[in-house]
Amino acid sequence: MSGISAEREPRSESLYFRASQDLREDVDTFAARRGVTLSSAVGRLVERGLEAIANEESVKQMEDRLAQSTQELASMKVHLAAAQGEVQKWQAVIRGIEGYLRNLTVGACPHCKRQVTAYDHAVVRQCPYNDCRRPLEQVERAQEITPVAAGFLGAIGGLIVGLAAGQRQEGSAAGK
Ligand SMILES: [Zn+2]
Repeated sequence: MSGISAEREPRSESLYFRASQDLREDVDTFAARRGVTLSSAVGRLVERGLEAIANEESVKQMEDRLAQSTQELASMKVHLAAAQGEVQKWQAVIRGIEGYLRNLTVGACPHCKRQVTAYDHAVVRQCPYNDCRRPLEQVERAQEITPVAAGFLGAIGGLIVGLAAGQRQEGSAAGK
């Protein structure tokens, strides 16, 4: 029987265990190389073993935390993609309305008398012609545009300006 006692400072307890011949030889070699007693060598080896196990556990904990963070990141990416999808839908709606307003002639610029669109009047609020560019607070209305329709177009124009501003803010908040 290979009984080995591990002595530790300041108070030592005895610890016995059975070892194979190979293990016993390895421990003897370890002790001889370091110039320590067999029991001191065993004590150090056990301490190193326990330390390694503790490190493994903390590595495991870090791996768990990393896995959790990765999962959270993935779920945030899903939410972000959904939010971006919403933004894109709204952008498409706005582009649709903008396209409609750009093609709808509402009357003539009161200054240069040239035709202007609902977009010029309600969104840009400026005459589109470079040699005029005057503010379009009023247009000389084409007969087919009723005052109610004109008011509705003005409201849509205001909505587009507001939505576009809101989207620019969302876009910069999302780190675009
Ligand atoms: Zn003009």
